[in-house]
Amino acid sequence: MIYFDNSATTAVLPEAAEAARKYMLERYYNPAAAYAPAVQLERDVSAARANIASKLNADPAELIFTSCGTESNNTAIFGSLKAMHGSGRVIISAVEHPSVYEAATDLKERGYDVRLAPVDGTGKVLAKELAELLTPDTRLVSIMHVNNESGAINDIDAIYSLIKKTVPDALLHVDGVQAFMKEPHVRCDMYSVSGHKLHAPKGVGALFIKKGVRVKPYLLGGGQESGMRSGTTNAPAIMAFSAAVTDYSEHRAEYRDSMLAVKKRLYGNLMRLRDVRLNGPDPDHGAAHILNVSFLGVRGEVLLNALSEKGLLVSTGSACAAHKRGRNRILNAMGILGERQDGAIRFSFSHYNTVAEADAAAQMIEDQVGILRRFRRR
Ligand code: PLP
Repeated sequence: MIYFDNSATTAVLPEAAEAARKYMLERYYNPAAAYAPAVQLERDVSAARANIASKLNADPAELIFTSCGTESNNTAIFGSLKAMHGSGRVIISAVEHPSVYEAATDLKERGYDVRLAPVDGTGKVLAKELAELLTPDTRLVSIMHVNNESGAINDIDAIYSLIKKTVPDALLHVDGVQAFMKEPHVRCDMYSVSGHKLHAPKGVGALFIKKGVRVKPYLLGGGQESGMRSGTTNAPAIMAFSAAVTDYSEHRAEYRDSMLAVKKRLYGNLMRLRDVRLNGPDPDHGAAHILNVSFLGVRGEVLLNALSEKGLLVSTGSACAAHKRGRNRILNAMGILGERQDGAIRFSFSHYNTVAEADAAAQMIEDQVGILRRFRRR
């Protein structure tokens, strides 16, 4: 089987699984308890926090653990607005993940003036258009770092400077779920990350909240995470997350080179086929782990199923109504419509993938696309 759906989730790193096992079977205490083994566990969780925070150039006190990227995004958006008075303008990009987009839709229903910042044909936010949307009553801007569909990388540092220069009181939240550890650190007020996108188990994420930025908690209860996120600490997942982050930071360049080599090989192979279009930045400029390509004359979901039967696992996009024809919100925003939208497939890689897999995958795709196109013409 060839797994090219690493933007959806990744295989757990053995060291991360081992950390989770140890903290589930041996050090299973509640870190809030008062006895010595629990106090030691609390120290271990603190070390994990410091480790992950350091990769964001953050102080440990600026990082709270959550259950996933979705929770981090929701906490950042709802929590920061809850700490402000009255409503106002909220800007998100037109290609945000549903965990930001749906939160913004909810805000709109509650009277916020929600605006969508347009993107170019690769999925990158248009700076000039974003600048025009910034008004004195803008409260929050939420822009993703790496787009999960196209691999476009936003220039977050430039966006941060623009916002702070134009509306100094507005906050910038960044969904860094597809970028954390893969792209260099950026300046922002809040940054969301998720463990399972980089070889930690599902069920753990984190949110960086810059010192001085006010965010009201989303989950109320026992006051864990300095009162910012109640709920018994998920120590096994946090320790696994930390192990995965340590491994990634030790092999960052090697993992990047390896993913980029697979991406470029697959891209090169696919571009030799007829009627294939790239959706997203040139492979040298996008994220190393994401490649989105359209096969004209073929329905993406039909191709996906045909490839899955042959042992190649890919995606047609995230859970944003991508299954309904012409309804892929992300590709629509990128101006990718009609046949090109229908035939879009996202390939996403991890360092576990190989160039040989890229060759094998390209052959399978060539075969299946050929069969489907012939079938369609009849
Ligand atoms: N943001 C982006 C860009 C994503 O790609 C995803 C997951 O696909 C999420 C947020 C949600 O993360 P999680 O699955 O941890 O809730």
